Amino acid sequence: MINYSTKIIVLLALAPGLAQLHAERFFGDPPDAHHPWAVHDSNRPQPPIVEPGENYGDPPSDAIVLFDGSEESYHNNWHHLRPDENRQHDWLFKDGYLQAVRGAGTLATKQKFGDVQMHIQWAAPAEVSGRGQGRGNSGVFFSDGRVEVQILDSYRNPTYPDGMAASVYGVMPPAVNAMRAPGEWQSFDIIYRRPIVRDGEILDEGSLTVLHNGVVVQDSTPLEGGGGFKKRQPLDRVFPEEGSIRLQDHGDPVRVRNIWVRPLRPRALDGGTDGRLSIAATMAKRAEIAESLRADAGKLSGIDQSLRLFESLVYHENANARRKAEQLLRVYLEEFDALEEDAVEAARGKMIEVYRALKYLHDYHFIREDHEGFATVDQITVEQGWRNR
Ligand code: MG
Repeated sequence: MINYSTKIIVLLALAPGLAQLHAERFFGDPPDAHHPWAVHDSNRPQPPIVEPGENYGDPPSDAIVLFDGSEESYHNNWHHLRPDENRQHDWLFKDGYLQAVRGAGTLATKQKFGDVQMHIQWAAPAEVSGRGQGRGNSGVFFSDGRVEVQILDSYRNPTYPDGMAASVYGVMPPAVNAMRAPGEWQSFDIIYRRPIVRDGEILDEGSLTVLHNGVVVQDSTPLEGGGGFKKRQPLDRVFPEEGSIRLQDHGDPVRVRNIWVRPLRPRALDGGTDGRLSIAATMAKRAEIAESLRADAGKLSGIDQSLRLFESLVYHENANARRKAEQLLRVYLEEFDALEEDAVEAARGKMIEVYRALKYLHDYHFIREDHEGFATVDQITVEQGWRNR
């Protein structure tokens, strides 16, 4: 049984190890054929900082606001697909919302988007008329209309489930019916990943995740080519890299407001350079990281420069960098050897750091099994009583 004071002593003994977490060099499993970064790699870029919205539904600082309730944002970001001469009406702009008008046709973003997070609020008409697909029908389309997240008044209004509100139309019903009553504002939070098909090969069939009023109703649902009215689509249907986002006029006075999107980070397939990558992309990224570490090493001197150069070898081998790192290590050890006895203790911290770095390089086979510098540092740190063997 460990008593309380023993526990304190154990914690204190562990404390230097915990402090090491903040050094984060020569630390986790190194890069491999599919991962350009080490595990817990402190060289990995910090994600950009985003200021979240104050309240639910407010756009975060990096959002592209497509409609904020102002007439200006409506006209700046949207246009009618139907030419003026064939259009009897425009969508109605009123009191901070847009309303579909029969005959106005589809409203499309001027800007084109690939993969996005989207927030939109919508309301089915408070005055209920029609049934099934004829009641509060609109929709959010991605990729120039290839796939629809259905907007419908599905409040006590059964229809075919793969066409009800929050369905991926013609593909997949929502997991549950999270409708609010007609006339009430409700939200969709959508994560859209388009299919990636190249040379007839389906590399990623794309997906939709939808939260309806905060409830997950689609969870990485595969797109199956996008679906549609009465038709299945071929799985290898080609989607554009970027396309407009569209709002459907299905003849019902559905309202929308507070619309914003955030482009998503690219998948590895799409040129993303983080996560599990192809061997070619991994090696290219590793070479780039190694190059930047060598540039950084140029700003350092002595053993610090040596360690930074050694670190670069973890990402990409380079004979010159290795030679220079070894040379600087030799000089450091010669200088240590020449230290006056009373100066030795002051060199402890750095020597332990060098030991840990070389131990890592040794254990992961970035230096030879019988590396002379490592053997020397190993011996010094034990002889000085700085470390137990
Ligand atoms: Mg629709």
